[in-house]
Amino acid sequence: MASIGVLAIQGDVLEHRKMLDSIGIESSEVRLPEHLDDLDGLIIPGGESTTIVQLIDIYELRTPLVDKVNEGLAVWGTCAGMIVIAKNLNDKRPNPLGLMDIEVSRNAFGRQIDSFETDLDIHGIDGPPMHAIFIRAPLVTQIGSGVEILAEVGEGKPVAVKQNRLLATSFHPELTADSRMHSMFVDIAHSTP
Ligand code: GLN
Repeated sequence: MASIGVLAIQGDVLEHRKMLDSIGIESSEVRLPEHLDDLDGLIIPGGESTTIVQLIDIYELRTPLVDKVNEGLAVWGTCAGMIVIAKNLNDKRPNPLGLMDIEVSRNAFGRQIDSFETDLDIHGIDGPPMHAIFIRAPLVTQIGSGVEILAEVGEGKPVAVKQNRLLATSFHPELTADSRMHSMFVDIAHSTP
């Protein structure tokens, strides 16, 4: 069974853990470098990316996390987590981890009041479209050659992307009752690096 951690320094940690629990995956909370040991996958939840990155640096997690990803740790960033793992932002803050070859625009759909829900067809997810909740969501504005677009809203607006063992979504599957995206990430984490 894949061993999944949830970065538990800010944001909707519990919702991800409950969703993993619902598909029979025990998870652990990651706050310190040693909590990364023996994980196959790490979820970086939604929240506030500036706060999450600030705390990553205060807890001295940046280098160990990047090293673990280079050794094969799978990472899924949802919403603020997408911002945290991006290579570039078209924003001065925060200073992202630079794990995934994407450029991301924060709050690209507007302010809190412009949050919205829609149904998305996601490449690699069978069955009906997934209900997706966008809360002050980021958008992928550029992708590197190794990055695959799994879902878009409108014309050319990627909101789910994958690069090898890295996954990023602008929306919040953990706030729905649909566990298919979590299962997809567990499969990625479980596969051989
Ligand atoms: N807008 C937030 C940020 O920039 C992300 C919002 C979210 O995670 N729901 O970090």
